[in-house]
Amino acid sequence: MSVDVIIVNSPNKNIDYPGLSLPVLSAALREKGYRVLQIDYNVILRDQILSQHGLNNLLECIVPFLCSEYCESEFHLLRLGQLNDYIKRLNISYRFSYLENVKFKVQNQEFEWVFSKEKRFRAYLELFKINRALHYIIDACILSHTELPSGFIADSIEGIFSDLISKIATDSPCLLGFSILDIQRGFSLALINKIRPSYDGKIVVGGPDATRFPEEYMKLCKGIDIVFVGESEESLPCLVNELKSANPKINAIPGIYYRKKSGAVRNNKSRPIDFNYNQSPDFHGLPLKKYLTPALPLQISRGCYWEKCNFCIHYDTYGTYHKRNIELVINDIKNLVSEYKTKYFHFTDDCISLALADKLTESIIHNKLDIRWLSYFRFEKGLNKNRLDRIYSAGGRVLELGLESASEKVLELMNKKVSISATKRIIEDASKRGFLLKLFMFHGYPGENINELKETIEFTQKRILEKKIRAFFPLRNRFELLRGSDIYESCRAGKNKYVKKMWESSGLFGIRGQYVSDINDTETIKLINEFVINIKKYMETEKIYNTDDENVMLDLIVMEHKNPKKGWHCI
Ligand code: SF4
Repeated sequence: MSVDVIIVNSPNKNIDYPGLSLPVLSAALREKGYRVLQIDYNVILRDQILSQHGLNNLLECIVPFLCSEYCESEFHLLRLGQLNDYIKRLNISYRFSYLENVKFKVQNQEFEWVFSKEKRFRAYLELFKINRALHYIIDACILSHTELPSGFIADSIEGIFSDLISKIATDSPCLLGFSILDIQRGFSLALINKIRPSYDGKIVVGGPDATRFPEEYMKLCKGIDIVFVGESEESLPCLVNELKSANPKINAIPGIYYRKKSGAVRNNKSRPIDFNYNQSPDFHGLPLKKYLTPALPLQISRGCYWEKCNFCIHYDTYGTYHKRNIELVINDIKNLVSEYKTKYFHFTDDCISLALADKLTESIIHNKLDIRWLSYFRFEKGLNKNRLDRIYSAGGRVLELGLESASEKVLELMNKKVSISATKRIIEDASKRGFLLKLFMFHGYPGENINELKETIEFTQKRILEKKIRAFFPLRNRFELLRGSDIYESCRAGKNKYVKKMWESSGLFGIRGQYVSDINDTETIKLINEFVINIKKYMETEKIYNTDDENVMLDLIVMEHKNPKKGWHCI
C-alpha cells in the first residue's frame, strides 16, 4: 500500500530511547487520515553495528581505513588511535559476541539477567560507550571523500540509501521529511543529496537545527524544498493537504521557508499552535525493541516558563512557553503505557514549573498511574518537602536541575535568580526522600573568578561525596557563548565588562563565539582537572558508573531493577 508521507530520523543520535518529533508528527498526520511511514535509520544502523559482525568490521576494517583516509589533522589521528585501542580492549575483555548477547537481553528487557552479574552490567554500560564513539565514526564515514571499504558497515550505510530509494519508488509519497538535530546534520544532508535525483516529491526538513538555521539549509542544500521553523504538527498536515490537491498553494502555510519558481527563498511567519490537540505521540512503525532502554519521551510543556537565564538559547525552539492540558497529558501517559507496555518516561520539557508539577503529580496519583519518570526543574524556593513527596509518590525518581554555579554572584550575573540556601535545602530534602539528583554546572562564566570557581567545586564535591547528588562531570565544560543569547549580544555590543575581547561565531552553521576574559586559565584548568580526577577516583572506589547524554534513562532503570548490593551503582 502506498503512503502519503515518509519521515526520517537519520544517524547520529543516542539510542537509549526514541526521539519524540517523528511520533508527534506521525500522530498529527494520521489524525488527518494520511498514511505515514516513520523510519529511525539511526537506531537501525547502530543496532547493526552493535553486533559481532559490526564490531569486527569496525575494528578490522573501518577504523584502520579512517586512520589512513580521514586523518586531516593530528586531532583526528589521535582520536582514531584511541578508538582503535578502545575497541580492541573491548574484544579482549568481553568478546564482541558477548556484547551482542547482552544487547539482545537488554532489548528484550531481561534486566534481572543483565543486573545479576557485574560483567553483564558492565557490558551494558559499554554498549552506551560504543554508541558515543559511533557519533564520530559514522560522521567520519559519511564525510570521508573516499569510498568505504566493502564490508558490513559500508553495506549497512549503503543499505540506508538504497532502502529509502526503494521505499520512495514503492510508496510514492508526496513528501519526504527529516527532523534534524545538529549532530544529525551531516548524515541528513548526505541522505538528501543521494535521494534527490530519484525523487520528484517535496523534501522538507525541520527540528531544532533546521529551526535555528533555515536560510543556511536552503542555501547549502538545493535538494531541500521547504524548511519548517518551530513546531510543525499543524503546518505539516496543511502542506500535505496542499500537495495532494490539484493546484497546491504553499504560500499561506505558516512557519516555513520555501523556494519560489524563480529560485528565490521566501518565508512565512510561524504561528503559535494549539498544544491541546487530542492525539498522543504515535510510535507505531518504529522498531521499539532496538533501543537500549524501554523508556519513552513525552512533553507536558514547551519552551521555558522562566526564559531569563542570559546564556540560554535552549527554549527558543518553541517561540513561546505553552503547556498541555493535564487531562490530555494523563491520557497520553495511559495511551503510551497501554500501547507500548512501558512504565518509564522522560518528560523532555525544558523545565517543569511548580504549578504544572502540582497539577501533574496530583493527576498521576489520582489516576493511580504506576510510572517512573525523569524531568527537569529549577531550584525554586517552593520546591519544598510536600512537593517533593508528591513528585516521588507520582513516580518522579530522577530530577535534573541546572544550577550552573554555586556562587551567588555568578548566579546573579547569569540572571538565574536561584538562592544557594534554598538549593542546599532542596538537595537535603530531595536526597533524603530518595531522589537521584543530577546537577548541571559549567565553569568560566564571564565574571567568575578563581575563588568563585573554588566555591562551586567545593559545593559540588562535598555533596557528591555525601551521596546527596549524582557524581558526573558537567562542571568540566567551559561556558559557551552562544549566538542568540542575551550575553552574546551584550558582549557583541561591548557592554560586558568581564569580556575583554570577543570573536563572533563564524562559518555557515557557526553558533559559538570566542572570548577572552580576566579568568586565569592555567589555574582554572588545574582546579577542574583536580576535581575530575578526585571524582573519577571516588566513582571507581564506590563503583558508580558514569552517565552522559547517551544513557539519560539508564539511572531510572537501574533504580528500579538493580540489586544495590551487586556491581555498579548510580550513586
Ligand atoms: S537555563 Fe533552563 S531555566 Fe534558564 S532559561 Fe534556559 S531552559 Fe529556562
